[in-house]
Amino acid sequence: MWRQSRHWVFDMDGTLTVAVHDFEAIKRALDIPLSDDILQHLAALPSAEAAAKHAWLLSHERELAEAAQAAPGALELVRELRRRGCQLGILTRNAHALALLTLQAIGLAECFASIDVIGRDEAPPKPDPGGLLHLAQRWQVAPQALVMVGDYRFDLECARAVGAQALLVNLPENPWPELCDGYAQDCAELLRQLR
Ligand SMILES: [Mg+2]
Repeated sequence: MWRQSRHWVFDMDGTLTVAVHDFEAIKRALDIPLSDDILQHLAALPSAEAAAKHAWLLSHERELAEAAQAAPGALELVRELRRRGCQLGILTRNAHALALLTLQAIGLAECFASIDVIGRDEAPPKPDPGGLLHLAQRWQVAPQALVMVGDYRFDLECARAVGAQALLVNLPENPWPELCDGYAQDCAELLRQLR
């Protein structure tokens, strides 16, 4: 059923790009306990400290964005969907500007409208489905018409929460079969499944 969808939403890190975030290193650099969520931890800090650490995080992420590399098959998959006239969005925990920078670095900037790139300031973090609801409303379709492609359970869970189709990519096997409607080892295999 997802093969016929005209409305596709992608996670960015680890889905369209090769995962490079070293979350443990970030936590060590910012003095955040390894068990804590980075953004939640920063949100609970006194504002001056939070601002300083957010600034560090942004500059670190900017370097990563500029050096981003496309995941296997990601360019071909996205360009094929674009060629078919599908609407395409991004739902990421990256900041919006950095997500655009990343898309530019991997050569996909022309495939996504800026307004359809939903970053951490435009929607609540996954697994909250707010970002998907936002895109469904913008595109004027039911959330069930969306396909969400990601590499982590939060991507699948946010899709599940609103009845969207969930596709898992970029893991050697599928640890969450109950959470997804499709699985491919990478975007190249997903493109083959689409054809
Ligand atoms: Mg990811």
